[in-house]
Amino acid sequence: MPAAAAIRKVRVAILGSGPAGLTAAIYCARADLTPLVIGGVPAGGQLMITTDVENYPGFPEGVQGPELIEKFRAQAARFGTEFVDANVTAVDFRRRPFRLTVGSGTTIVADAVIIATGANARWLNLRGEQRLRGHGVSACATCDGFFFKDKELVTVGGGDSAMEEALFLTKFASHVTVVHRRSELRASRIMQDRARAHPKISFLLDTEVVDVLGTVTVEGVKIKHRRTGKVETLPAQGLFVAIGHDPASESFRGALELDAKGYIVTHDVTRTSVEGVFAAGDVVDHRYRQAVSAAGLGCMAALDVEKFLSEHGEAPMEIAAGVAAQTRKGKSRHVRPM
Ligand code: NAP
Repeated sequence: MPAAAAIRKVRVAILGSGPAGLTAAIYCARADLTPLVIGGVPAGGQLMITTDVENYPGFPEGVQGPELIEKFRAQAARFGTEFVDANVTAVDFRRRPFRLTVGSGTTIVADAVIIATGANARWLNLRGEQRLRGHGVSACATCDGFFFKDKELVTVGGGDSAMEEALFLTKFASHVTVVHRRSELRASRIMQDRARAHPKISFLLDTEVVDVLGTVTVEGVKIKHRRTGKVETLPAQGLFVAIGHDPASESFRGALELDAKGYIVTHDVTRTSVEGVFAAGDVVDHRYRQAVSAAGLGCMAALDVEKFLSEHGEAPMEIAAGVAAQTRKGKSRHVRPM
């Protein structure tokens, strides 16, 4: 007979383990709500693929993204947060307690939920790009830049991410060309100035990437000058795409109200269209998208959850058998794969 699927009951489930999710965990844990962070795979969010973070308050010398996440996580664990590094594959928000299917089929039942699943890198959707992803095409300079020593590279995008990627890539590459579709960059002045001042970086504005060439690895990047319509091939052994992100909200489609771009719609800051489900960070915020603003939203979501639970109490459990109720502080705090 197949084993019955495991079911666990928690007061608060937090989906995502970037700055928003982990700050929410710190606040919920300190409020004695013993949160369960379902961290996603890979865990930690976009800071895990960021090098120097120079604008997070409290770190005058800057801090590495993964180190900052580790500190958030240790702080959340210190107050009783439990972590599961797995993805939520399905949700049922029709009634409380809410049901979340995690990893290989474990069900988490929660009185309240905070969604902080963040956002994922966007791609150009070119044929060559798909084919050569992981073979010279990347959306993460900090992950893959090391493999491009003395190579000629192209970065696409005109925002802070593109500037940051280009600057990082100069550590390895012989040259980096930033290709941007408009005549003006979107990036902040300080990032633009740094990139423009770098001797290894040049810019091609009003220009689109139309294809990536190569069979086994990248051999060139085909571009089109928008004003003249001229198409040419840049010699390049790598293409780094840095054109923004999409919210990681697909699992909630149909369960929560999303906007046209897929961001979770909130009112009163962190409340979603379902009472008892809150959202914070980049899955909600397409405007600020900073680690510190995500952390701030995580804090607000936790305070809203605390108030919600004090007003609504524990949801009645209909599922009697197999539920390991976890209502008090002091349970296991280490990572358990599911
Ligand atoms: P972003 O600011 O939205 O910029 C995306 C860039 O990609 C834009 O220049 C956009 O062009 C271009 N783009 C979008 N879709 C494209 C397509 N299909 N083809 C070609 N180009 C396309 O995204 P981001 O750079 O990832 O930054 C997001 C947020 O994070 C911002 O608030 C930023 O300040 C922040 N951030 C900060 C730092 C830092 O301070 N160190 C580092 C990274 C990110 P258009 O300009 O024409 O729209």
